[in-house]
Amino acid sequence: MNLTFYNTLTHKKEEFKPIDEKLVKMYSCGPTVYSYAHIGNFRTYIFMDTLRRVLKYNGYKLKHVMNITDVGHLESDADEGEDKMEKAARKENKNPYEIANYYMNIFLEDMEKLHIDRPEIITKATDNIPQMIEYVKDIIKNGYAYETSKGIYFDISKLDKYPVLSNRELDDQIAGARVEVDPEKRNPYDFALWIKAPENHIMKWESPWGLSYPGWHLECSAMGRRFLGEEFDIHTGGIDHIPTHHENEIAQAKGATGKIPAKYWMHCEYLQVDGGKMSKSLGNTYTVSYLQEKGIHPLAFKLFCFTAHYRNKLNFTFDGAYGAQKALERLYDSYIKHLNGNEVVEDSKINEYKEKFMDYINDDMNMTGAMSVVWEVARNEKKSKKLAELLLDFDKVLGLDIKNSPKYLNEFSKNKNISLEDIPDEIKKLIEERNDARLNKDWAKSDELRKVIASKGYSIKDTKEGIIVTKNI
Ligand code: AMP
Ligand code: ZN
Repeated sequence: MNLTFYNTLTHKKEEFKPIDEKLVKMYSCGPTVYSYAHIGNFRTYIFMDTLRRVLKYNGYKLKHVMNITDVGHLESDADEGEDKMEKAARKENKNPYEIANYYMNIFLEDMEKLHIDRPEIITKATDNIPQMIEYVKDIIKNGYAYETSKGIYFDISKLDKYPVLSNRELDDQIAGARVEVDPEKRNPYDFALWIKAPENHIMKWESPWGLSYPGWHLECSAMGRRFLGEEFDIHTGGIDHIPTHHENEIAQAKGATGKIPAKYWMHCEYLQVDGGKMSKSLGNTYTVSYLQEKGIHPLAFKLFCFTAHYRNKLNFTFDGAYGAQKALERLYDSYIKHLNGNEVVEDSKINEYKEKFMDYINDDMNMTGAMSVVWEVARNEKKSKKLAELLLDFDKVLGLDIKNSPKYLNEFSKNKNISLEDIPDEIKKLIEERNDARLNKDWAKSDELRKVIASKGYSIKDTKEGIIVTKNI
């Protein structure tokens, strides 16, 4: 089956045909490193990783760029508020460069924990300032930008069409973004390319427009052109990038080069928590390390992400994540059983599995379909080394490190079946409360308490001999 992807630009699934037959050039919007990345962010980077792996599985080589935003991302995507880096620096009483390095390193560690392959080029915005200045100059030269007392603005009215990615009407966009109309702007939806720095702004550079700093959208345009050229194949990001960030990136590229920079624009839907938004105020912006503390291995979270198509919302719950943890254990266990098996499985059966798997991944990365094939192979009654090899082959796309299954199973079992004295007092108290509830036949309360206990990383099983407590890893 041909490789197809849904293209946000054309609003349909299209056959993938790269500009260069063998080498795919791809750009992914990376994190803004002012805080810890949360599991929602990582759903988008897992999607990016799977895309890389699917392309490689299809025989392509990759030149993939991911940026690290360490300047210019204001609190609102629509040029309002403070630079997120400067705000974090003030709050933590550090310099913004220290903040950026600290959170970038943790982000890269988390990527490794999730076995997200590193893009060939990772580049920080602050390492691309001359390229960004050149980009603004090109836009001005072509008549698409103008200067105000606040900075250099892109003149949207000069474009043939805006927006091009979203079907939104501009009036909605303005109302949605609640943009304060700046009287110096020619059109309310013009956006800042380059921002003149206030006196106390730490990150600022000499430029033809005085001491100033880049707007967030500009960095991706300039870095894309620097490393991949004016036209490349794929551009990825989260769904929230569609209405503003990617629209503006396209506008900038049209202004500077007259071209839309990427042929295929791909976006990952949101991860929700308990059916709602992830937000700091709700305290549910969980990190990868937090999941680990709760007994959920990062690769179990990756497996959890494969339970929905990347263009559908995915709802994170701890119950779901513990389910994924158990499923990961079952997958590793099946691999070992196949590896030790000597039963005969026909080559035709192996090819059939392989074809089905390929059809799913090549159909706009249908990972739920692909996982159904993985589970068929894992659960095959016949235990065969050929099936173990097949799982390793599929793992080139999954990135679940199946070859190290024994190591993980060992790690998981060590933390299980803990003795009574190792159970923290808080959990013991909850178990006692649950026992009382059960004695009182208050099943609702007992269920509720089991969930609370689970959310703290422990599972309980009621047996004839009493309760067995296990730690979830
Ligand atoms: P940021 O660091 O805020 O620029 O976000 C990094 C990436 O995570 C972007 O591609 C966002 O679109 C994406 N993102 C943010 N929140 C979520 C979420 N809840 N689910 C999936 N992706 C998200
Ligand atoms: Zn970007």
